[in-house]
Amino acid sequence: MLDQVVKTIQNSTSAAVLTGAGISAESGVPTFRGQQGLWKKFRPEQLATMEAFLADQVVVWEWYNWRRQLISETRPNPGHFALRDLAELFNDFTLITQNVDNLHRLAGSVRVLELHGNIYRNKCADCDRQVAGQLEIVPDSLPICPACGGRIRPDVVWFGEMLPSDVIEEAYRVAERAEVFFSIGTSALVHPAASLPLIAKRRGATLIEINPERTPLSDYADFTFLANSGEILPELVSRLRAVSERKVRR
Ligand code: NAD
Ligand code: ZN
Repeated sequence: MLDQVVKTIQNSTSAAVLTGAGISAESGVPTFRGQQGLWKKFRPEQLATMEAFLADQVVVWEWYNWRRQLISETRPNPGHFALRDLAELFNDFTLITQNVDNLHRLAGSVRVLELHGNIYRNKCADCDRQVAGQLEIVPDSLPICPACGGRIRPDVVWFGEMLPSDVIEEAYRVAERAEVFFSIGTSALVHPAASLPLIAKRRGATLIEINPERTPLSDYADFTFLANSGEILPELVSRLRAVSERKVRR
């Protein structure tokens, strides 16, 4: 099937990728599903919300400190690096991620649209301004916003919140013009992110999915790899490279 994918997309100039927690699974970043993602028996839905933050800032910050620590001990895996390399094979390439773990940037990807923010950034819960620098958060002396005195929170999208409008609008534009769209390591359940592959497909893009489990998107995909992204992506990139080098030599 890899060869068929290469044949189908080798002359495309515009590509987009949507990634979810699955691309980072091989780096050891826990997904929200499964026991590994639990902290002190809380479910993420009980912590990653404005209600939780208003009720108990300290417990929410303790959870984020724990997640920041876990994530800072992980490294990009071959899937992240392959996506950095994939970018070089298209004139127009955008990586859209639902992940907050910063691993795509660490791998060297440059055009990254972070739909759900970045766990290392902070912003003001009241005036929404980003707070520069990597603040160390000490739960018994929580920082306040230098501009308005409001409470500082992680700059990530919580359950029930809207996605940053400039980022999602750019992602829609990217999906509309992509000739090839990859959906990788996402359960394709959470909208609006999950609508991006379908928008691309409706505009005629070739839709390629990589996920060890079938998802609601699988029925619409032109190619579905039921596999780990860290195994398939490096192979795909190396085959695409081989054909593009052949083209250059001719
Ligand atoms: P999700 O809904 O995006 O699902 C993860 C998907 O990855 C599953 O469908 C699973 O089958 C697939 N998968 C597992 N291992 C894989 C592999 N090796 N290769 C390819 N695919 C693989 O993710 P979720 O954990 O339910 O999280 C939902 C939201 O929570 C995310 O969109 C994100 O905003 C946030 N989150 C982010 C991170 C992170 O930044 N790494 C981690 C957990 C949660
Ligand atoms: Zn403020």
